[in-house]
Amino acid sequence: LRNLVLVLGDQLDADSAAFDGFEPACDAVWMAEVAGEAGRVWSTQARIAVFLAAMRRFRDALRARGWTVHYRALDGHEAPTLEAALADDLARLRPARVLALRPGEWRLAQSLPAVCASAGVPWSERPDRHFYCDPGDFAGWARGRREYRMEYFYRWLRRREGVLMDGGQPVGGRWNFDADNRGRFDRRGPGLLPAPRAFPPDAGTREVLALVARHFGDHPGGLGGFDWPLDRTQALAALDDFVAHRLPLFGRYQDAMWEGQPWLYHSRLSAALNLRLLGPREVVDAAVAAYERGDAPIEAVEGFVRQVLGWREFVRGMYWLRMPAFLDDNALGADQPLPGFFWTTDTDMACLRDALGQSLRLGYAHHIQRLMVIGLFAQLLGVRPREVHEWFLAAYVDAVEWVELPNVLGMSQFADGGRMVSKPYVASGRYIERMSNHCAGCRFRPGEAAGEAACPFTTLYWDFLDRHAARFASHPRTALQWMHLAGKSAAEMDAIRARAASLRAALAADSRHSHPPAA
Ligand code: FAD
Repeated sequence: LRNLVLVLGDQLDADSAAFDGFEPACDAVWMAEVAGEAGRVWSTQARIAVFLAAMRRFRDALRARGWTVHYRALDGHEAPTLEAALADDLARLRPARVLALRPGEWRLAQSLPAVCASAGVPWSERPDRHFYCDPGDFAGWARGRREYRMEYFYRWLRRREGVLMDGGQPVGGRWNFDADNRGRFDRRGPGLLPAPRAFPPDAGTREVLALVARHFGDHPGGLGGFDWPLDRTQALAALDDFVAHRLPLFGRYQDAMWEGQPWLYHSRLSAALNLRLLGPREVVDAAVAAYERGDAPIEAVEGFVRQVLGWREFVRGMYWLRMPAFLDDNALGADQPLPGFFWTTDTDMACLRDALGQSLRLGYAHHIQRLMVIGLFAQLLGVRPREVHEWFLAAYVDAVEWVELPNVLGMSQFADGGRMVSKPYVASGRYIERMSNHCAGCRFRPGEAAGEAACPFTTLYWDFLDRHAARFASHPRTALQWMHLAGKSAAEMDAIRARAASLRAALAADSRHSHPPAA
C-alpha cells in the first residue's frame, strides 16, 4: 500500500487535494465511525445520524469508482477513539504514507499526526482548497491588529476574490445592507412559507437511523422527520431550491423569528457546507448569479455572501489563530453551570422552549435563535463558556469545532474579551418581543425587569449591565448602552439584583438534577 488517504467525517469531498494523483491500484482510503467521537459531547441523534449517513454515502460513491475504502463501521466493538482505530489499522495495513487534509479540529490536528509518528508512518498534509482563505493568509491579514473585525476582513476578501465587485467598488454602492435586513413579520405572521426541499431517508439512511437509535437512543432529540441532504447530488439540489425559493427574501427576514417555524428563509446549507458536500465558492457564485439574472435583490445576495464568504471564513481564521488558548477563554469570569433545561427544554420561557426544542429535535436553529435567544440567555446568566461551547457542539447538525467554537466563545459569549466583536451582543426581552411572536404566548412580560412576571431575559439584561459596568460603562463602543443604567433607581436595581440572584440559584439547582450522563 503506497498512500492511505485519511478522510474524516467532515472531509467528504472527492475533489479535495487529498485525492490528487490517487491510484486505485496502490492507494486506499481510510474512514472510521467511532462512538467516542459521537459521545465526546452529548450529541443530538440528528447530528450523529447526519455524519454517519453522509460518511457511508461517500464511502459507497468511492467504492463505486472501484477504489478501496477501509471503513470501520460502528458495531459496538469498535476502537474507543479515532486515534486508537487509526493506530490499529496502521499496524495492519502498513501504508508507506498517510495523506490527509489538516483536520478541522485542533485536537485531531495534533493527535492524528502523532499516531502516525508513533507507528513510524509519515503523515503528509495536503493544502486545503475548500476555503477562500487559508489560515496563513488570515494570519497575514490579522498581523499587527489587536482586535479582529469581520467587516474589514470581509471587505478585504471580497476585493481579493472579486466577489460582488464593480471595478474597485462594491456592487450596489455599499458594503453593508444590514439596515435593510432587519425585517420582522407583522401580527399575521410569515404567511405561506416555501417549504425547503426535503430528502427523505433511503434504505441506507434508514439503516443508519436504526443504528443511531440503538447505540445513541439516550442522546437528546430524535430522528423523526430526518430529511437532510447527505451527498453531493442532494446538496446541489438543496442549493438550487434555496436560490430559487428563499434567497430573494433571505436578507429581509434573516433576523426574524416565528414560533414553530424553524426554517423561514434560511438556506439550511450549513451541514452540507461543513461536511464539504458543497464548496463555499459554488454557493456564493450561485447567489451572485441569481442577483445578476435579476432573480434576487442585492440586499439578500450581499447578506448571504456576507455569511458565507465573510463570517464563515472569518471564524475559521480566528479558530486557527487562537487555538488552543481560545478554548479556555472566559473574559467575563462567567461561573454559572448550564441550566438543565438546555437539555430538557423544560422552561416557561416560550422563546427558549421553541429554540431549544427545535435544536434538539432537528439539530437546527437559525442564527438569531442561536445568538439572540440561546446564546444570549447563557451570556446574561453568566454560564461557564466551556459548558456553553459543549452544548452548541452537541446540538447542531452543522457543528464542527472550527466554526462552532469561535461563534460561541467569541461572538456569542464575549469570552475572548472582544477580540472578535466590538461589544457583547446583549439585549433584553424587548428584542425578542420585537423580532418574534414568542412573547404573545409567554407568561413572562418582556417590559418588566423585576417581580414574578418579569421576563428573565430582561431581569438578567439589567443585572448583566450592572455586573459589568466597570468594564463597559466608560468604553466608547458600549457607553451608550450602559448609560441607561443610570435611569434605574437604587430601589429598582435592588429588586432586579434580588430577582437575578433567585433565578441564578434556581437554575443552578436545576442544572444539578438534569445534567447529561458523563460522556
Ligand atoms: P443561513 O442563515 O442560510 O446562512 C447561510 C450560510 O452562511 C450558512 O449555511 C453558514 O454556512 C454561513 N454562516 C452564517 N452565519 C455564520 C457564522 N456566524 N459563522 C459561520 N458561518 C456562518 N454555524 C455552523 O456552521 N456550525 C456551528 O456549529 C455554528 N454554531 C453557531 C453557534 C452560535 C452561538 C452562533 C451565534 C452561530 C453559529 N453558527 C454555526 C452560525 C450560524 O448560526 C449557522 O451557520 C446557521 O444558522 C446555519 O443555518 P443555515 O445553513 O440555514 O444558514
